[in-house]
Amino acid sequence: MIVNILALVLAYAFMEFVAWSNHRYVMHGFLWSWHKDHHIHDAKRADDEIRKQKGFEKNDRFFLIYALPAIVLMIIGFSSHNYLLVYIAAGITLYGFTYFMLHDIVYHKRFRVPFVQNNNNRYTRAIIAAHRAHHKPKNKTDFNNYGLLVFSKRYFNA
Ligand SMILES: [Zn+2]
Ligand SMILES: [Zn+2]
Repeated sequence: MIVNILALVLAYAFMEFVAWSNHRYVMHGFLWSWHKDHHIHDAKRADDEIRKQKGFEKNDRFFLIYALPAIVLMIIGFSSHNYLLVYIAAGITLYGFTYFMLHDIVYHKRFRVPFVQNNNNRYTRAIIAAHRAHHKPKNKTDFNNYGLLVFSKRYFNA
């Protein structure tokens, strides 16, 4: 049991690395054509405007792709009674849920979820500041802010 929980936590933590590296090297790399509409007119828009994201973007295709590994793991895990795989899949799914809540609901306000959006704790404020720096980099070093949950501690004071 403890091994399963540990696997879930590790899978969740590892997903931050997966999200960071995909965002850095895939989305801002060879699949920029899918991600670019998430950054459209960033330079010309104020942060408030960027934070009122409306409708669907090509960028949403990544949701479908990133959901696949967890779905496949769950199917294999349940059908072969290998529950370790199910826990890993649960860790991946929980991370995806966190990403959606923080990036799409809290930052980009795609849907109204008042309880989540009104939360104003220090960490949430830092996440917002860090993602703002990704959309509106003040300088070249800001723009390497590709992760979600892990970022420079200076964003706690931003
Ligand atoms: Zn980006
Ligand atoms: Zn964004």
